[in-house]
Amino acid sequence: MSTDTQATAQTQTEGGLSGREQQVVDQVEKRLLVGGRWVDAEGGATFEVDDPATGQVIASVADATPADGRRALDAAVAAQADFARTTPRERADLLLRAHELLMERQDDLALLMTLEMGKPLAEAKGEIAYAAEFFRHFSGEALRIDGGYQTAPAGGARFLVTKQPVGPCLLITPWNFPMAMGTRKIGPALAAGCTSVVKPAHQTPLSMLALGQVLQDAGVPDGVVNIVTCRDAGGVMEPLIRSGDARKLSFTGSTKVGKVLLEQCADKVLRTSMELGGNAPFIVFDDADLDEAVAGAMQAKMRNMGEACTAANRIYVHDNVIQQFGEKLSAAMAQLEVGRGTDDGVQVGPLVDEAGRRKVIDLLADATGRGATVLTGGEAPDGPGWFFPPTVLTGVPGEARMAHEEIFGPVAPLTPFSSEDEVIAAANDTPYGLVAYVFTNDLRRGLRVAEALESGMVGLNQGVVSNPAAPFGGIKESGLGREGGSVGIEEFLEIKYVGIAM
Ligand code: NAP
Repeated sequence: MSTDTQATAQTQTEGGLSGREQQVVDQVEKRLLVGGRWVDAEGGATFEVDDPATGQVIASVADATPADGRRALDAAVAAQADFARTTPRERADLLLRAHELLMERQDDLALLMTLEMGKPLAEAKGEIAYAAEFFRHFSGEALRIDGGYQTAPAGGARFLVTKQPVGPCLLITPWNFPMAMGTRKIGPALAAGCTSVVKPAHQTPLSMLALGQVLQDAGVPDGVVNIVTCRDAGGVMEPLIRSGDARKLSFTGSTKVGKVLLEQCADKVLRTSMELGGNAPFIVFDDADLDEAVAGAMQAKMRNMGEACTAANRIYVHDNVIQQFGEKLSAAMAQLEVGRGTDDGVQVGPLVDEAGRRKVIDLLADATGRGATVLTGGEAPDGPGWFFPPTVLTGVPGEARMAHEEIFGPVAPLTPFSSEDEVIAAANDTPYGLVAYVFTNDLRRGLRVAEALESGMVGLNQGVVSNPAAPFGGIKESGLGREGGSVGIEEFLEIKYVGIAM
């Protein structure tokens, strides 16, 4: 972090939020959205939200109890039948209005996100646009829910196939993309005709509450989207899952929590979509355009300060080019401006909280203890906020913890390889399978390696794969189901077949 940036962060700590920042925080409803009304949590309980750049409290929001959660689910259940009867066009128009409102409020929503989560303002603005795009995408998908009519193979009977909303859904989202992970679930749920109870992460409730206001202003009927913020996620959500009154759980978060929730869902056989953790390999062959590969690595590693399930977690570079690649990547990383995400020119904000930074520090110490060398960065700065500098490590051995665990921070570990078979085996040596990246100028090799990699998505010569129109999701312990694309809405639809005697 530059001295200037550190000084700015300190000024913010002493002086609190600027006038505009305070205004943006003040205009957010901080209560629960239940049945179309903003209500206090039972007993008026609240919990605090911090600015990770300063460690300072910026707001208090309602802390729901299990009874509040139950009321939210009751509202979703009560609204389900009427909402399922709305026409596809009505639901599509609703989503388009929500898209427009998100874009109209993009600047305020981006600032709000930066304040509670830390990412630089430009990235937050990008996320609002990305999040809004899920609504526009699914407004189209609402109109394309299809069916079929078919003659039975032996003749006589006919098969009529139609699709219906799954029913009330529970949607649980993480803090790293507080808006987009919400719209990626709420968009298809609305398009399909499902009501929902949404529970955002405790670090970032403000963005979801602001989204609730957008949905209300867009005209979403009462009870169709309910929002429950709380500190005791398990205590509030488990009874709702086990009740069986919701018919689906869509979860984005860690594999550890995802496994717990899958067990809870088994009881009443809920439909599940699970977007879980990753351990993405990023492979650079010696025939790649090295500058393009470095640019791709910067995107795959540094988007969201490395706090992304899609973040390049293991960077494998061919022996012939690893030194050159390491020099170029280190130079690019060292140039990044670290600081409070609201400040001009800042490209890397703080990590989300102390635990997140502690994990990065521990993983780094483990890797260097096993022989890895720091090419740039590596030292957490003093002072307020959970900052960590962009860091490049080389010679990271396969047994290092960071080769097996999500780093979730701005640390790029380089490991050399010498053959295609060797690197494919190393890349697949993980229980995760979300995304992988391959850089090569040999198209045949690119496709061959893409097919051999065990992951739900592959970036071939590109460092970002997320796109609302593409099917996002993982295999192995990275999850179940897909979000976005033309298949995203299917996660919220049941197929019904009617056999017709003729
Ligand atoms: P997390 O700890 O699993 O939390 C995710 C969400 O689950 C939060 O809303 C959390 O609430 C809630 N939660 C935690 N324990 C729960 C329980 N027992 N019952 C019900 N809900 C519970 O993950 P995170 O640290 O927020 O997010 C980072 C993880 O998300 C990473 O592993 C990342 O890879 C993954 N992720 C995956 C994708 C994807 O599409 N595959 C996208 C983004 C992130 P509290 O905040 O209140 O604890």
